[in-house]
Amino acid sequence: MAAKKIVLTFPKSKIDKPIVYKLIKDYDLVFNIMKASITPDQEGHMVLELSGEPGHIDRGIQFLKEQGVRVEPLSKEIKVDWDKCVQCGACVAICPTGALYVKDRKTMEVVFDPEKCIACELCIRPCPPRAIKVHF
Ligand code: SF4
Ligand code: SF4
Repeated sequence: MAAKKIVLTFPKSKIDKPIVYKLIKDYDLVFNIMKASITPDQEGHMVLELSGEPGHIDRGIQFLKEQGVRVEPLSKEIKVDWDKCVQCGACVAICPTGALYVKDRKTMEVVFDPEKCIACELCIRPCPPRAIKVHF
C-alpha cells in the first residue's frame, strides 16, 4: 500500500465530470480530498491524497492525464516575504482558496494560511513587489 499527494487542475470542460470517482471504481484506489476550489475562470483545482497499490496509483494518474487533467506532485510550497509585501491586496483577489486573505477589514492586513494553499501559483505574477515565491 502506498500513498501520494497530488494537485489536479481540471479544465472548464471537465469540472462537472465524475473523473475522480473512477479512481475508486476502475483503479481500486482510495482518495482523500484535502482541498478543492473553482477559480473565476472556471478552472477546477483539487489536492488529493491517493492510496493504493503503487501500480494502481500510476495507472490512475495516467488515466487522469488522459482525461485532460493536469497532475502535479504536491511538492511545492508558497512563501510570502512580508518585508517586501506592500499590503496591496492584489493576491487576495486572485487566490482561489482563500489562502491569502484580508485578516482585518479596518487595517486591510493581508495574511497567508499555508493550510489552504494548493500551490497553484496564481498569486505570484500579480504581486507588484514580487513578494511571493514558490519553493520546491
Ligand atoms: S499559490 Fe497563491 S493563489 Fe494559489 S492557493 Fe496558494 S496562495 Fe492562493
Ligand atoms: S500582492 Fe504581494 S504585495 Fe500585494 S498584498 Fe499580496 S503579497 Fe503583499
